[in-house]
Amino acid sequence: MSGSMSRRQAIKAVTTYEVKTDGFPEPLADTFGRNVFSLSVMKKRLPKHVYKAVAATIEAGAAMDAALADYVAVAMKDWALEMGATHYAHVFYPLTGLTAEKHDSFLEPDSSGASLAEFAGKTLLQGEPDASSFPNGGLRGTFEARGYTGWDVTSPAYIMENPNGNTLCIPTIFISWTGEALDKKTPLLRSQQAMSKQAMRLLKLFGHDDVDTVVSYAGAEQEYFLIDEHFYYARPDLMTTSRTLFGAKPSKGQEFDDHYFGAIPDRVLAFMIELDRELFKQGIPSKTRHNEVAPGQFEIAPVFERSVLAHDHQQLMMTTMKRVAERYGMKCLLHEKPFAGVNGSGKHVNFSLGNANQGNLLNPGDTPHENMQFLTFCGAIIRAVHKYGGLLRAAVASASNDHRLGANEAPPAIISIFLGDQLMDVFDQIAKGGATGSKAAGIIELGVDTLPPLKADPGDRNRTSPFAFTGNRFEYRAPGSNQSISDPMVAINVILADSLEFISDALEKQLDAGVDLADAVQQVLMEIVLEHGAVIFNGNGYSDEWQEEAAARGLKNLRTTVDAVVEYTSPEVVEIFEKYGVLSARELKAREDVIFEYYALTLLVEAKETAEIAKTMILPAAIRYQGELASTAASLKAAGIEMQTPVLFEITRLITDLHGAMVVLDDGIAGMHGESEYEESKYARDVLIPAMAAIRAATDKLEGIVADDLWPLPTYNEMLTIL
Ligand code: ADP
Ligand code: MG
Repeated sequence: MSGSMSRRQAIKAVTTYEVKTDGFPEPLADTFGRNVFSLSVMKKRLPKHVYKAVAATIEAGAAMDAALADYVAVAMKDWALEMGATHYAHVFYPLTGLTAEKHDSFLEPDSSGASLAEFAGKTLLQGEPDASSFPNGGLRGTFEARGYTGWDVTSPAYIMENPNGNTLCIPTIFISWTGEALDKKTPLLRSQQAMSKQAMRLLKLFGHDDVDTVVSYAGAEQEYFLIDEHFYYARPDLMTTSRTLFGAKPSKGQEFDDHYFGAIPDRVLAFMIELDRELFKQGIPSKTRHNEVAPGQFEIAPVFERSVLAHDHQQLMMTTMKRVAERYGMKCLLHEKPFAGVNGSGKHVNFSLGNANQGNLLNPGDTPHENMQFLTFCGAIIRAVHKYGGLLRAAVASASNDHRLGANEAPPAIISIFLGDQLMDVFDQIAKGGATGSKAAGIIELGVDTLPPLKADPGDRNRTSPFAFTGNRFEYRAPGSNQSISDPMVAINVILADSLEFISDALEKQLDAGVDLADAVQQVLMEIVLEHGAVIFNGNGYSDEWQEEAAARGLKNLRTTVDAVVEYTSPEVVEIFEKYGVLSARELKAREDVIFEYYALTLLVEAKETAEIAKTMILPAAIRYQGELASTAASLKAAGIEMQTPVLFEITRLITDLHGAMVVLDDGIAGMHGESEYEESKYARDVLIPAMAAIRAATDKLEGIVADDLWPLPTYNEMLTIL
């Protein structure tokens, strides 16, 4: 299928689509966690001492005794076979940001020719998927090519269903034989541990002697688009690059706001209900669903969980969304900006930290004492975000997210913090207390009256801020819809570990000198606000004034991936990653190289696809129409009728522009061979992006001129509004 026929056929197929269902299935609540080898399943199936050890590892971060793996393996295998599994897969999270699986059969022929189910502890603990084609940023030379998966006890195994047989999936980490991280999971686990250690130390200073592991929690709001698959298959750009490289903005866009929270179309609702059921089976607590701002755009948010588990669940959720959408004849687009000029998709990562004993440490609490502890954690976050804003920006960098950040729908590339009026006021008071140096003057006394009991939900929101306090958590709004939440969570954990340690050191020094805790906290927080308060911004992050003001405040504005990713190897960042044992300088450099490699590759593929579609689909349509206009004009002239032909002039001019732009793009593509991943990325950004933009400028105008029946690509209007 190609050309105008496919577009017409697509529209016909879409408008006659009927939702098919198998009737009303069992209640949702009965399905929750059914496919999960959960703690409750383990409790039933494991010897008591084994269960206790595994539970302690999962819930309290205790070290895992490898000798117990045999018990778990047997129980897991029996359970999986009962669940209809024929295979098992070690699931891991390579640097591509995707999810990878290596499948093995449970069955092994024995000497008598029969088949035995074989699954020992060592198979559970470690796999060797080879998987040498995953990007590794130079961490795996050919002579040291081995990559291993290692069982992550903290994330439960689960059954993946398929009509032809089920698979036991075991979440793992993926490392090289030298122990270097080749995945997104290893640093997440390491950073969680580092943050926990520092948070526990600080809590002890607040008099909590019985502190359990502190975990970071994450709740990710996932935005996405749905379009009918017929349109998708009629758009080679969507198929190859996951975004539309062409397409004029529709005359009716999202200006009317009639889609936001509007009634959900039947087919989409059917998809959402089935998606919820699939997620529930996997123990993923999917909760909210609604239409988003742009037509065709929706959101799903599971209830927050331990960030390590939330990460695995989020990855599984993205895979499941794509799979279920296909059952309803739709494509789920997770790209950050599938349609230019239409709102993009983000993945707001809500995070907090706490544990069963202390609860949520970002909950302001009702008493001044709780407030004091809460404010200290907030102070740690303020310092962390100010000191390492560049790292936070790097953690969300990709070619696709660059389209979204700062595009009037998503926070700008400047990383600032929104505190809300109430908290802002409290920190202002803290700062003033320092300015006068007089606690006696009664400006601030952390333990007493001047500190108002903080309300859990102050109600004010600032949707333009990349890092906003929302009552009992922070919401990091810059991550893109297609990204793993690992990178942002790793960054948050590491920079928090650093600030928590800084604060504990400072507090201890004062306490040792005989200062009481409230005074010490006041002193430390005051220093933090004075030194790092520039990162706090409650105003409109979308405004031009903010760009200027942020620059005056010395905040970084790293607009593109190329500017941002180098932050990963800045001396300050390397220092803290190494200090907390999260990633070595070599591992960080490898990550940086992989991001650049992908960035350059993404743009190169987009450039080639742009050139091809322009050449083989759009230019032919434009020339045909030009020919029709020209021959009509000639016939009329022959008949002695003189006619004005502005459209013919216009189309001729645009075709000339397009030709010119095509030559520039072809040259650009041919010139793509940089000295390093960085150079190549820079070239792609500075040469390929403008060259593609020039082509698009001409073609999007042509779309408004060329006869509709000749136009080869489904339009924005068609794709976004026909569901
Ligand atoms: P909104 O769109 O108003 O920001 P949603 O209800 O769509 O809110 O999503 C909020 C997300 O934040 C959910 O995933 C929710 O579970 C999560 N969340 C709520 N409380 C916390 C918390 N204390 N820590 C981390 N995430 C949280
Ligand atoms: Mg939301």
